[in-house]
Amino acid sequence: MDQLTKDYLKRNYGIDYEVSAMADEAEKEIAEVFARYESVAEYNQYKVLRAFHDNYVSDTHFAWANGYGHDDPGRAVCGKVFASAFETESCIVGPFICDGTHALACCYLGLLRPGDELLYCTGEPYDTMETVIGLKGDGNGSLKSYGVSFSKVELTADMKIDIEGVKAAIRENTKVAVLQRSIGYSFRHAFSIPEIREWAAACKSVKPDVICMVDNCYGEFLDTKEPVAAGADIMAGSLMKNPGGGIAMGGGYVAGRADLVETVSYRVIAPGIGTDAGLMYDQTRRILQGIFMAPRTVCEAIKGAALFAKAFEKLGYEVSPRAEDPRNDVVTAIRMKSEEQLTAFCEGVQAAAPINAHYAPEAGEMAGYEDSIIMASGSFVQGSTMELSADAPLREPYTAYFQGALSYDHAKFGLMKVLQSLKDRGLL
Ligand SMILES: *Cc1c(COP(=O)(O)O)cnc(C)c1O
Repeated sequence: MDQLTKDYLKRNYGIDYEVSAMADEAEKEIAEVFARYESVAEYNQYKVLRAFHDNYVSDTHFAWANGYGHDDPGRAVCGKVFASAFETESCIVGPFICDGTHALACCYLGLLRPGDELLYCTGEPYDTMETVIGLKGDGNGSLKSYGVSFSKVELTADMKIDIEGVKAAIRENTKVAVLQRSIGYSFRHAFSIPEIREWAAACKSVKPDVICMVDNCYGEFLDTKEPVAAGADIMAGSLMKNPGGGIAMGGGYVAGRADLVETVSYRVIAPGIGTDAGLMYDQTRRILQGIFMAPRTVCEAIKGAALFAKAFEKLGYEVSPRAEDPRNDVVTAIRMKSEEQLTAFCEGVQAAAPINAHYAPEAGEMAGYEDSIIMASGSFVQGSTMELSADAPLREPYTAYFQGALSYDHAKFGLMKVLQSLKDRGLL
């Protein structure tokens, strides 16, 4: 950045010249990483545009409907655009799915019957899924309460999918095998499309009719293909994350094989009705604009992620993935050295937000999460982690999970606020 900008940051935000220089130096070292991200974003932008053209999206689709919404023009077109962009047979998307947890829960509760087993192939499920499965909480309404059993295959010591272990774990009653692409609150790499392809093929080799399902949260548009195009049968995700593009006001999606998506739609809406009803509540335009912007937004966010990773690597912190590593989700895990540092990190992110920057984040209870969580998110869409945000369970080893940013400049500003926040407390 030029001197004018550095002076501006110093004068207005108390960003020391040393701190702005650190951000600039980290940025210089990862120019080639940025170029890699840009080429994926470019391909995906054309792919998404093609999805609009193939489905003849027109301004009449934005119109309000009411009542049962049988003829809501936006519902069908949103499903078709998402299905085309993800290269799947079918997709259900809209405000009638609240979020990623709801989308995933509808898949499990819709596809599994009493006596069936759900097999997690990537170790611990994401925190909110544990309550859905019945591993935590009082179990009311969980899969367990319906007589659906659960088992999991741990990752290998180097945090890869244990392919042989997965093959051995698939049994007669294993109906759905799940791969969680993103890292959740773990310290590992997100899984790549080639890894997903290998996993799906391995599952099918022992049980051709096992349903291979991917929790695709945070994974959309990181590659030129999505999991279903690589052999999975069905996947689900959140519009508060990548495919919402920072514009969708909320929601989730389920995409994949048409027969499976239809069965899931009976759980989302009702048996026999499925996707023939459901109002879009005027969200069609935002959902479409969101997916249109998503390849670019994801690119901005991961450029920011690589910048954070590089800056903290240079300071000697353990980060995952490292700045130059291949990236398959938008999350960067950074190991802070104390609870104090973790709090200072989150305060820095919060102070950089456009909304609620004057509030300090405090650890607290969150529905669906067991540990006390500190969350920094001052976003236009509440809780959106496509926007600049960080969160962390308040437990050792004090890992901050950083993600999002609608623009790279904002991520860079976030980094400087975090570094300054640490410096001001004598923790850098
Ligand atoms: C965020 C997330 C979810 C849940 O999505 P929400 O929209 O927050 O409910 C599920 N799985 C993974 C891996 C996630 O990152």
